[in-house]
Amino acid sequence: MKRPSDVTQEIASLSRDLTSVLKVLADRGESALPAEPESAAVAVSPVAVVETGMGEIELPPTDLGKEARMESLRQQAMECRRCRLAKERQKVVFGVGSSSARVVLVGEGPGANEDRTGEPFVGRAGQLLNRMLATIGMDRKEVYIANIVKCRPPRNRDPEPDEIAACRPFLDAQLETLRPEVILALGRPAAQSLLNDQRPLGQLRSVVHKLGKVALLVTYHPAFLLRNPARKAAAWEDLQLLVDVMVSKGVCGALPEPWWRP
Ligand code: SF4
Repeated sequence: MKRPSDVTQEIASLSRDLTSVLKVLADRGESALPAEPESAAVAVSPVAVVETGMGEIELPPTDLGKEARMESLRQQAMECRRCRLAKERQKVVFGVGSSSARVVLVGEGPGANEDRTGEPFVGRAGQLLNRMLATIGMDRKEVYIANIVKCRPPRNRDPEPDEIAACRPFLDAQLETLRPEVILALGRPAAQSLLNDQRPLGQLRSVVHKLGKVALLVTYHPAFLLRNPARKAAAWEDLQLLVDVMVSKGVCGALPEPWWRP
């Protein structure tokens, strides 16, 4: 049992605490103690929101279906001014391809032709990419093609880290929606960004990386191969590795022999 002096000290202590609380509330302009929070009222937002520090993107509900989700994201990208690349762009290049694609190709950013047409990988680099896909028995329509930034960097420079960070929620939402089995990163900026690994491209290719549960492979950007045709043999090896991974994941059956050998 507490002695009377202990009880007096306890009341004095509680009184001091209460005085402090009331002073804080008075400083905030409040005249009453806050009510108990209501329980069991869980608000379910129809959309998730990704805060980038430069504005928000709304992630469409998963029950919308892939095509509707991608369209919702595309509409948001069309109006996006989250980074400085919005200033000089002609068109936002969101991405193109099948919403049921199990293979996604990711480049670094739009060039002049893409900026003009709004479609990724057009022009000579796009034609080479189409030929590369054809050699492994795939058509451009079967894959999804996107970039790590959706607007053209001036004079085709590499995208800056803050531009990549600003645009990354779009790519992440695209990948989350498509849920591919395999991602092929085209070129150093795309590979380094996706893998969060700053090693040179030569050290990132020839390896099956993991991005969550997704296999991620790396090869040269077709525009680089146009300037450096001697690297096409190495890109060919990367495509063979891509096919091996696709076959192992059941993305395609074994291709007829000798499909790549002369
Ligand atoms: S690059 Fe991406 S983040 Fe920057 S303005 Fe274009 S869509 Fe927005």
